[in-house]
Amino acid sequence: HVYTNDEVHALVKEENVRFLRVTFSDLFGTMKSVDLPISQLDKLLANKVMFDGSSIDGFVRIEESDMYLYPDMSTWLVFPWGAEHGKVAQVICSVHLTDGTPFAGDPRNNLKRVIKEMNDAGFSAFNIGPEPEFFLFETDENGNTTTKVNDQENYFDLEPADKGEDCRRDIVLALESMGYNVEAAHHEVAPGQHEVDFKYSDALEAADNIQIFKLVVKTIAKKYGFHATFMPKPLAGINGNGMHMNMSLFKEEGGKVVNSFYDEQDKVQLSQTAYQFLAGVMDHARSVTAVCNPIVNSYKRLVPGYEAPVYVAWSASNRSPMVRIPSERGMGTRLELRSVDPSANPYLAIAAILAAGLDGLKRGLKPADSVDENIYAMTEAERQAKGIHDLPDTLHNALKSLAQDDVIKAALGDHLYRSFNGAKSLEYEGYRQSVSKWEQDKYMSEY
Ligand code: ADP
Ligand code: MG
Ligand code: MG
Ligand code: MG
Ligand code: MG
Repeated sequence: HVYTNDEVHALVKEENVRFLRVTFSDLFGTMKSVDLPISQLDKLLANKVMFDGSSIDGFVRIEESDMYLYPDMSTWLVFPWGAEHGKVAQVICSVHLTDGTPFAGDPRNNLKRVIKEMNDAGFSAFNIGPEPEFFLFETDENGNTTTKVNDQENYFDLEPADKGEDCRRDIVLALESMGYNVEAAHHEVAPGQHEVDFKYSDALEAADNIQIFKLVVKTIAKKYGFHATFMPKPLAGINGNGMHMNMSLFKEEGGKVVNSFYDEQDKVQLSQTAYQFLAGVMDHARSVTAVCNPIVNSYKRLVPGYEAPVYVAWSASNRSPMVRIPSERGMGTRLELRSVDPSANPYLAIAAILAAGLDGLKRGLKPADSVDENIYAMTEAERQAKGIHDLPDTLHNALKSLAQDDVIKAALGDHLYRSFNGAKSLEYEGYRQSVSKWEQDKYMSEY
């Protein structure tokens, strides 16, 4: 629902809102915000709030730094905390240049552009149901995070009422009060690890939801004295944090919304659209990985043995490959991309995945055969015979694939691709020049 100016004024009164948090996301998916006293509401509604774009990662140089925030009034929400000092309302904005045009370096604007391409191809929605995972770590007396997880529980474990469980419940309550449709919240496989799933929504709203979700998790965790992290692999030797993306395309047909991935007639009830979309995602998998797994640490999660994918393959019966087709059909027919991790900028990640899938439709691609046996038990020769490729093993190799993929580069657009590639290459270079504890332990005395 897009709130009108009158409705917003009424809501502000009703809820005693005293502050406005106007937000947008930078290149890395970090939420940036400008806090305004409520007296500035009309200025915000008139698209007149300005900020300095040169101080934001991946935006612009000093010379062209004046930028405007245009509020998207469908994203208006009031935070369920902080009422003692007057409530805080948040609204997500798009970034515009002084002449009013949308700024191409704003990841959210860019996602809208790719969504428009999907609409032009005849679809009404790209549904994304994310499954973000996170760890709760204990903090020390100064409030800084430690590497001590908060429990020793396991997947779906029923804990004796402890702080971790209370914290997760509070997260769910906060999300629900903010309008999220939470489908499940459970302990994950690793100690201290949790997952909260909320109902799928159209691409732009899903990306916004992921951003706010992270903020809510971190805020509530802090109240409990925990540090919540979405880092892909915070601890060696146990599972990392993924963010599986469930996805489907809807279209309008005869006044009804239907799931384009569903076909009653097919032997496994998947449509040509689903197969072609899947083939596109597989075809661009290596370059999409650069965007969906964008930090050095992402590649420490994509290793054998911890439920994260390592190879480009799909299956309808097996949970380990990069793409799984969950068994639900009808409106719930979907692909689940399991490689994505929560360090991804959701606006960029969803744009890249959507563009990959749409390219599969455009070219009428066919996916390779599904792989229903255990890929990890195959030899390299067996994998090659079946046409199973590896996912990139480092950020460096993922970026190299991206550099050669015009479709995914176009999905980011020129500005975002150039800043992404530049920043990520530097990040990798910094890592390459660092010397880790593992190396010192292994080599210092031996050589
Ligand atoms: P898993 O079985 O992998 O643990 P979950 O049950 O945790 O999966 O999450 C499933 C996700 O898929 C939810 O976010 C749900 O809303 C979403 N989902 C359901 N139907 C669709 C659909 N048609 N398109 C996209 N996502 C969907
Ligand atoms: Mg799940
Ligand atoms: Mg499930
Ligand atoms: Mg999980
Ligand atoms: Mg899953």
